[in-house]
Amino acid sequence: MDAKERMSIPRQKVWELAPEERVTNFSEVVFGFDEETAIREAERCLQCKKPKCREGCPIHNDIPRFIRLLREGRIEEGYWADRETNSLPAICSRVCPHEFQCEGFCIRGKKGEPVAIGMLERYLVDWMVANGKNLVKPCAMPKEEKVAIVGSGPAGMTVANLMAHAGYRCTIFESLPVVGGMLGVGIPAYRLPRAIIAAEFDSLKSCGVDVVTNLTIGSDKTLSQLRAEGYDAVFVGVGAHASRKLGVEGEELEGVVHGVDYLRRINLGEEMNLGRNVVVVGGGNVAIDCARTALRTGSDKVFILYRRGKGEMPASRAEIHHLEEEGVKVETLAAPVKIHGDNCRLNKIECIRMELGECDASGRCRPVPIEGSNFMIEADAIVPAISQSVDLGAIDGVELKLSRWNTIEVDELTMQSSVDWLFAGGDAVLGPETAAKAIYQAKEAAESMIRMFEDRDLKEGREPESF
Ligand SMILES: Cc1cc2nc3c(=O)[nH]c(=O)nc-3n(C[C@H](O)[C@H](O)[C@H](O)COP(=O)(O)OP(=O)(O)OC[C@H]3O[C@@H](n4cnc5c(N)ncnc54)[C@H](O)[C@@H]3O)c2cc1C
Repeated sequence: MDAKERMSIPRQKVWELAPEERVTNFSEVVFGFDEETAIREAERCLQCKKPKCREGCPIHNDIPRFIRLLREGRIEEGYWADRETNSLPAICSRVCPHEFQCEGFCIRGKKGEPVAIGMLERYLVDWMVANGKNLVKPCAMPKEEKVAIVGSGPAGMTVANLMAHAGYRCTIFESLPVVGGMLGVGIPAYRLPRAIIAAEFDSLKSCGVDVVTNLTIGSDKTLSQLRAEGYDAVFVGVGAHASRKLGVEGEELEGVVHGVDYLRRINLGEEMNLGRNVVVVGGGNVAIDCARTALRTGSDKVFILYRRGKGEMPASRAEIHHLEEEGVKVETLAAPVKIHGDNCRLNKIECIRMELGECDASGRCRPVPIEGSNFMIEADAIVPAISQSVDLGAIDGVELKLSRWNTIEVDELTMQSSVDWLFAGGDAVLGPETAAKAIYQAKEAAESMIRMFEDRDLKEGREPESF
């Protein structure tokens, strides 16, 4: 097929559950490609000599290679080509914000639609599972050193995967009763089915990784105790689970439930109905996940309040599209200023209209309140989902350098903290970010720990990554 012919193929469509059906349950919304559509989509790739998609992918997957193998019908080889760099393809293919990462850099996106890289990666994994293929890499001969991993999110999972397959004994300590970090208690199951997370942990356990849940490092056991128990290195991947507050009067009233707290409670099985009218505050994926979850748990009038314009919402376009299809309205250029209540329970939210003021170097403009434009919204609940910060309880008792954002400071090449046996990565270092960036940092941390155990230079031949 020549380039002209490839250029003439339109981006292949994916099947999705109908909006009226999906709001009644937590089933996965987006179906994968079938063989014919996957190969047709793979034919659209131009196999660029300097593939920009690889630069856009935080873990630099060899995307053109796995796409080429896929279109040649060599699916299993394509899967393993992807696994060379990505230990969690089933997860990344479903949750990565592809439009801002690999697909956002695809040359075909300049004059049309980019190659559907995420869906092609997902096809490889789904095909392997459907055909009963083994997804577990061979384990290495056991080595002496052992590693403690604090937190079972994508960062912790990646460290465990790489270290265990290199032969090191690993134990993951997780404070919640469930594993997967924000993949399990943040991202809803309709975007990431829980069986996928469970399968990743089964494969970690099959390579000897111990997983201890319901144990909080910092309170149930300290980092120093882990050292005393003989762990040669510790990786801290505790994420960013503390909700940022709105800072307005009335935030303590009943009916105010902060975004990640709300999702955690639902994902841990609590039956929660926020009432008929729900207002979610924020413009990112967390806000959208809260709004769509509220719909699925019985609320019938849900809307999002965002202080900038729709074009500035940090959530992915696909998520905004799904949200609107499901009937959630987005009220832009407005923000809450006070939560009113009766008998300790909220009943109204006072908001103010905003306009966009001065823009910074990145082109992001500051929202400015319009004086005298206050208005009221009747509501049964408000879900502020405006950001998260890192809870540093895990590092109590260890003198670690922190950044000015209260995240763990690490060497940008090695992920080593100011304490030489302690490495960190993911949201605990970056603040709330993405799964792929957490995976990237975890890979670098694992590489450093292996070098440390082998008495090798931690830095030689490594390049810094700028996010
Ligand atoms: C609602 C929501 C939607 C998101 N959507 C997307 C998306 O679509 N795409 C994307 O790429 N990213 C998304 N993200 C972000 C992504 O989930 C995170 O960037 C990623 O999970 C960070 O990985 P991590 O391993 O650093 O931390 P986490 O995944 O947060 O895992 C940290 C784990 O550490 C545990 N822990 C914390 N303290 C302790 C302690 N003291 N002792 C023991 N265990 C502890 C926590 O319970 C948690 O399980 C979303 C986040 C949220 C909240």
